[in-house]
Amino acid sequence: MDRSLYTELAERSLAGDLLEDALCVRLLEDAQLELLPLLDAAYQVRRVHHGHKVSIHILNNAENGHCPEDCAYCAQGRGSEAAIVDYGMKSEAEILAEAQRAYAAGGHRYCMVFSGRGPSPRRIQQLCHLIKTIKARYPIEVCVSAGLVDAAGAQALKAAGLDRLNHNLNTSEDRYPQICTTHSYQDRLDTLHHARSAGLEVCSGMIIGMGETAAEIIEVAKTLRSLGAESIPVNFLVPIEGNALTYANELTPTYCLRVLALFRFLNPSADIRAAAGREGHLRSMEVLCLYPANSLFLDGYLNTKGGDTQRVLRMIQDAGFTIQSEIPLEDLLHQQNDSRESFAVEGHQVQLKTDHDLKPSMQEEGTR
Ligand code: SF4
Repeated sequence: MDRSLYTELAERSLAGDLLEDALCVRLLEDAQLELLPLLDAAYQVRRVHHGHKVSIHILNNAENGHCPEDCAYCAQGRGSEAAIVDYGMKSEAEILAEAQRAYAAGGHRYCMVFSGRGPSPRRIQQLCHLIKTIKARYPIEVCVSAGLVDAAGAQALKAAGLDRLNHNLNTSEDRYPQICTTHSYQDRLDTLHHARSAGLEVCSGMIIGMGETAAEIIEVAKTLRSLGAESIPVNFLVPIEGNALTYANELTPTYCLRVLALFRFLNPSADIRAAAGREGHLRSMEVLCLYPANSLFLDGYLNTKGGDTQRVLRMIQDAGFTIQSEIPLEDLLHQQNDSRESFAVEGHQVQLKTDHDLKPSMQEEGTR
């Protein structure tokens, strides 16, 4: 493959050129395009806008389950039989303690997530109070994900000091009715427009693996570009038992990385987050996500656990990146009972093999 194509991709993305759909499809599907040069080209763009920093986001399910909506991928919706722990809105003390914990863990941004269709005016008031208190106590940015928000709600949240509103598009407009019937793609777009009009930063992303085509991924990535989304979580479907949708199409680590690169080329300055499902879908290639993406979730997702915190921080350090936090990465690793002096792989200390490990055939013989 002619190397000039990779250079051209990086240069055009940095210049603000919108890549043609046909070229975007090639990025996802053309096996002739090699993964490492593609990731390097995406990294050139990432480096200009975000350097070597990784922005760590920590989620707090401030309210979990009991949602009347029927999003097929979600364990909290009415169609799901997943064995999650349902609860109403956490107490103020709990939410504030978790904000403190997120800050101490190196979180650049604290994301409060509320299940449900959308907040009532009373809930908006509660959120405003929480946002003001958190911002007064900790130097951390605050993001809220609370479902559909109207114009007045978005303005009130902005006035309270909210930095970002999250509301994911999740899939393409055409596929939306197959994924959810209780609200529409347009409802979701409207919320994003209200956030934008109120002066809030917009966080909105997609879930890959719900049967979408390459063209649909490109459509969503371009829609988010036209919205000027500052933050784009790219999720990979997490197959939660009991959900209506646990599998639609196979994802390979290479494909997931190509998707992240595509989002980077189309949204060069955005925070591209390798979000839910990255551990399971990227597997042994997880560290490569740091080249197109500049952001990760730490401490798991809404209802599923993620990678071990120390392992993820060490992965960032090993690859030569650092974190966007007032707390140095080295200090965080130290706090996590870093075991640098003893050799450990994936959290497993050195253990000597036993006689049984070394001579399995002898053991078998002995039992004959
Ligand atoms: S994604 Fe949000 S709106 Fe949809 S079911 Fe889950 S909590 Fe409810």
